[in-house]
Amino acid sequence: MSAQILDGKRLAAALRQQIKKEVDDLRKTRGLVPGLAVLLVGDDPASQSYVRGKEKASAEVGIHSVVEHLPGDLAEEVLLEKIDRYNSDPAIHGILVQLPLPGHISQDRVIHRISPEKDVDGFHPWNVGRLYSDGEGFIPCTPAGILEMVHRTGVDVAGRHAVVVGRSRIVGRPVAQLLLRENATVTICHSKTRDLPGLTRQADILVAAVGRPRLITADMVKPGAVVIDVGVNRVDGRLVGDVDFEPVAEVAGWITPVPGGVGPMTITMLLSNTLWSAKRTGK
Ligand code: NDP
Repeated sequence: MSAQILDGKRLAAALRQQIKKEVDDLRKTRGLVPGLAVLLVGDDPASQSYVRGKEKASAEVGIHSVVEHLPGDLAEEVLLEKIDRYNSDPAIHGILVQLPLPGHISQDRVIHRISPEKDVDGFHPWNVGRLYSDGEGFIPCTPAGILEMVHRTGVDVAGRHAVVVGRSRIVGRPVAQLLLRENATVTICHSKTRDLPGLTRQADILVAAVGRPRLITADMVKPGAVVIDVGVNRVDGRLVGDVDFEPVAEVAGWITPVPGGVGPMTITMLLSNTLWSAKRTGK
């Protein structure tokens, strides 16, 4: 294997140490404990496991979390009222509604109801707008984690060709915007893109956020490229990414594994956003 592994677990652990220290300092100097409210509607096993991960990670760094497990047939109005309550609760600095929501609840109405100042997922249109207008706001957690990993390679993003495969609102588009903000030349690919391999082969930085197991094969990767695999796919009971790991690792310069790559960084960025939100209160 020629590629260096970008170990998300290790990087996340180091960042969480730093966050824990800052949480301690905040408590000591300002008597402030960052608070995170997590609302989970229904009993989807994957969502339950994500929420457990967020609760555990919060506790480890000293963030106070309140997790509400709500029934799948909850009325939208009741969920919106709960959000209102957390919006005006001074002990809560971050509000997260675990997605996806049951079909009878409008995801947009729910996201729009969260105060933009507590929107630690960065999905509220105000924060989306701030990201696109180079303003200061919450950056969605997975894209923020991806950028951290790219920075760890030491590769200067400016002037590089970054190719992002996937244009979702939660991963593809915001990560493309973050790379653009750092002066990469960015190409965004999607399901209608013609000649995907021709484009990915030009990438100095390649981000795969598609949800198709092993879509990115070794012949699609430029030698020495930074390859970030966001995909989480279950194949025969095993988790695999969107990148065909072993053969691509022979070609790439850096590569993230799945699991243990982008995933641990996502939760870490949620902790970081919650801490940032708490620090901003009263300022
Ligand atoms: P979406 O399904 O919302 O978006 C997938 C994107 O991939 C779409 O833009 C789609 O194009 C594009 N696409 C689909 N097929 C192809 C193809 N054959 N060639 C090129 N582009 C294609 O997914 P998400 O962005 O939410 O998630 C992507 C992956 O990342 C998933 O596996 C998800 O589980 C994982 N994920 C991991 C996280 C983590 O923390 N590790 C966090 C969030 C997601 P079009 O727009 O044209 O339909």
